[in-house]
Amino acid sequence: MSHRLPLSMSALLALLILAACGEQSAPEPVSAEPESAAGRLVVYTSRQPHLVESLFQQFEVDTGIAIEYISDDAGALIERLAAEAERSPADVLITVDAGNLWQAAERGLLQPLESTILDQRIPAALRDPDGFWYGLSIRARTLVYPPDRVDPEELSTYAALAESKWKGRLCLRTSRKVYNQSLVAVMIERFGEARTEQIVRGWVENLATGPFSSDTRLIEAMAAGQCDVGIVNTYYLGRLQQDNPAYPVRLFWADQAAGGVHVNISGAGITTHASNIAGARTLIEWLAGDAAQQMMAATNLEFPVVAGVPLDPVVEAWGAFEADPTNLAVAGRRQVEAVRLMDRAGWR
Ligand code: FE
Repeated sequence: MSHRLPLSMSALLALLILAACGEQSAPEPVSAEPESAAGRLVVYTSRQPHLVESLFQQFEVDTGIAIEYISDDAGALIERLAAEAERSPADVLITVDAGNLWQAAERGLLQPLESTILDQRIPAALRDPDGFWYGLSIRARTLVYPPDRVDPEELSTYAALAESKWKGRLCLRTSRKVYNQSLVAVMIERFGEARTEQIVRGWVENLATGPFSSDTRLIEAMAAGQCDVGIVNTYYLGRLQQDNPAYPVRLFWADQAAGGVHVNISGAGITTHASNIAGARTLIEWLAGDAAQQMMAATNLEFPVVAGVPLDPVVEAWGAFEADPTNLAVAGRRQVEAVRLMDRAGWR
């Protein structure tokens, strides 16, 4: 059985104190009683428990390795790994967005893994060139529109949303969300900084209303008539369509003539101070297997990283698309530039 680690009060307090004063003292490690090290793995994950619980149970059935895990925000887990340093019980970090994984690697919290299996199964754009992290599912960030007010013929690219015809009609999520930071980072790589800033300024000028705190709120605002086009991760629309197949918002694959849809990943890396490196490798390779790929993509309506793995029917109904082939390490490398650019352009 996989089970969640108890978050000890002292560790929690230490984290709160750390957060309050930014000091470098380490919180107490969560768990200090290793059973047989090879048969036990500790995972820090920003994925919701309902997304990983059945996966981890199946992993234990298949391999005999039991997983204990802590779930929290990516930022909190990265701070925790940094504070715990060599005392950390964690073997594997699983989180979403290459921007977050890149940060963890940049701060020395992950170690490289060489794996022929992973190199063969996962496209190069979706894993770190130096093996510090590997993408395990794909999330696509593309355009959505209300078919009662917008003809899909009017849509084409992310950049075109800066045109004046969309004035007062665009919805965006906050620029503080890493999803948008990664999107803009990849745009800087593709278009250069000046052109990207011009596009982003155009988006801000076209906003129908202030940025949203979540993709779901954005889609709901669109369904309620507040705006006519927006940019979201497809699984948020998928959840709404799963509940209501006639949901009044549809998806459009952006940049299909050139460039491709902006994609990101959920992924994993082995922590620098992992005590069970062999087990950590087994887990990441297992997650890239066909069965795990299908489970993982279906539970969050994402896309598998491994070609040929069946899609969830809701996801399959959106049809195939060309993805941007830019290596996602760019999302991390250009994150600071992207944040500054969005700030200058007035995207709150
Ligand atoms: Fe999300």
